[in-house]
Amino acid sequence: MAQTQFQFRDSRVLIVGATSGIGRAAAEAFVAAGANVVLSGLPQPDTDTLVAELQSRSQGNQVWFMAADVSDELQVARLLADAVRVLGGLDICLNNAGIEGRFGPLHQLATADFDRLVTVNLRGLWLCLKYEIPHLRRGAVILNTASTAGVQAIPMVGVYSATKHGILGLTRAAALELAPQGIRVNAVAPGPVETGLLARMIDGQIPLQAIADSVPLRRIAQPAEIASALLWLASDGAGYVTGETLVIDGGLTQA
Ligand code: NAD
Repeated sequence: MAQTQFQFRDSRVLIVGATSGIGRAAAEAFVAAGANVVLSGLPQPDTDTLVAELQSRSQGNQVWFMAADVSDELQVARLLADAVRVLGGLDICLNNAGIEGRFGPLHQLATADFDRLVTVNLRGLWLCLKYEIPHLRRGAVILNTASTAGVQAIPMVGVYSATKHGILGLTRAAALELAPQGIRVNAVAPGPVETGLLARMIDGQIPLQAIADSVPLRRIAQPAEIASALLWLASDGAGYVTGETLVIDGGLTQA
């Protein structure tokens, strides 16, 4: 179980896109910090094992898994109703589900691939917001996973990049809409992180070492390094931070 300097005892946390990679690391960190956590996303072969492990290592806090596809509005609506029922409310929402799309130039992307990327990454995140916000009260926190592809253009993943720019727009708008209610909304923008998504995105066309070499810190991030930033943003220590994008990229966008 990940060690954490943060305490979220009895916090009620929903993580959408928690079955692997960054979301899974965030789930491990929130459970280690004492939160009751609903993990959601598309089930993986090891999801039952993951939930059992998290539950067995928790300190009495509860862990649930609820499958939901964010491209299906009814599934998102049902997820929120079920998550709020078991958690008894909602304090922290992490909207992290995302897909990579196909690697290649804009004009060679199939229209169906464009539609799928926008449906999962942008519409899916908006659907999460739509069904989460009515349950949130003063002090609640929303976290959205964007990407450095949302703060600068990345060629050959142009539509993915556009969806991540869109997530930053949603983050800023939601932050302003919810600030009067004392609800904070922030995004993280990771650079390359060692997950299945990154491997699928580059599809063997760029060596991982070349990506690592392009980062000023000369390495690819581990999912836990993004999770620790997410926990800070969710904590009271970030209580005056809203509408912000925390870039976590080893210096990549400074180069
Ligand atoms: P991952 O493939 O390991 O995890 C993706 C998660 O999203 C999984 O839990 C999966 O079930 C879920 N998901 C995918 N499609 C879904 C759908 N239709 N409905 C519900 N859940 C769905 O990849 P990751 O790298 O951990 O990605 C997590 C987030 O981080 C994504 O939004 C991704 O764009 C973003 N990100 C990743 C990197 C990177 O280099 N890995 C960099 C920047 C941003």
